[in-house]
Amino acid sequence: MEAPAPPSELVSEEGRNRKAVLCRRCGSRVLQPGTALFSRRQLFLPSMRKKPALASGGGPEGDLLQEHWLVADMFAFENVGFSKAVGGVKFLVCADCEAGPIGWHCLDDKDSFYVALDRVSHE
Ligand SMILES: [Zn+2]
Repeated sequence: MEAPAPPSELVSEEGRNRKAVLCRRCGSRVLQPGTALFSRRQLFLPSMRKKPALASGGGPEGDLLQEHWLVADMFAFENVGFSKAVGGVKFLVCADCEAGPIGWHCLDDKDSFYVALDRVSHE
């Protein structure tokens, strides 16, 4: 079965984000338009919670998410924070209000930062 087409109101013909990526809770800007590539990959993100709970390993509950913005360079982010590494993975959180996880980063792959479309808003 073919994967559904990426949402064209969000993804440009070049596969980049048309809109800015914002924190859902506080509206802080995470990415400028055009700085990330749409990427389909199955990643597990724990349920949204405050950072202290994440640091202790989070909970077993969460979501398998398929659609992400892939960012190759950490400095492409306007604002982003990270949880402590848990099992070689760091979760991305909002730098301002620490809402998260909004994304996923594996320490084995320094050039891949994933931001889940379902965990952010677009403007
Ligand atoms: Zn925020």
